[in-house]
Amino acid sequence: LFITIEGPDGAGKSGLIKRLVPAIQSMINHPLVVTREPGGSVIAEEIRKLILDPKHLTMDARTEALLYAASRRQHVVEKILPALSRGEVVLCDRFVDSSIAYQGQARGIGMEKVMAINEFAIEGLKPDITLYLDVDVEVGLKRIKDKKSKRTQDRLELEAVTFHEEVSKAYHLLIEKDPSRFRIIDASLDQDSVFQNALDALITVIEE
Ligand code: C5P
Repeated sequence: LFITIEGPDGAGKSGLIKRLVPAIQSMINHPLVVTREPGGSVIAEEIRKLILDPKHLTMDARTEALLYAASRRQHVVEKILPALSRGEVVLCDRFVDSSIAYQGQARGIGMEKVMAINEFAIEGLKPDITLYLDVDVEVGLKRIKDKKSKRTQDRLELEAVTFHEEVSKAYHLLIEKDPSRFRIIDASLDQDSVFQNALDALITVIEE
């Protein structure tokens, strides 16, 4: 079972994942592999550092998209596919949808073009279920600002509000195109409710 979690910056993906991990683990008999993008393997984490380094302000949009796709390729081959073939459950923080939203739509390359280079990288691998943490751009960005002292800034956080609005718009288009894969979770609620709603959405697929 391949689960992905998506959402705009500040939606609360990482906090939610921390709480979901023990809850999911207690429901399944197989190991749970928790991983993230960009990153998730040694080579892929190196590419992540390169992409997110605030020094690289001149990085070209297509270079960025190709690096994400390269990082994803390595992650899929080295970690995700082997775990799935052992029958394990994989929970991944971001996947192709992020590239389509951030590089395809927000960076203006075009959603179709970014889909195409990712298809080359993933060869048809698709999540069974994707939780989408839905939150207004302004709310998400405010959360990041409030948290900023606790973590290092990445290059993406220097983007304008309109960039993040495009990201959100793209996610909603993706959901419209493939509604059966997505579960929309209202991420503006308090953390306990978000956790409970996310868990409820996953229980149905885990128990299938
Ligand atoms: O999800 P996480 O906060 O770890 O993502 C790190 C950064 O990478 C975020 O600022 C996110 O917006 C950005 N990102 C991106 N394109 C992707 C995936 C993540 O711009 N395909």
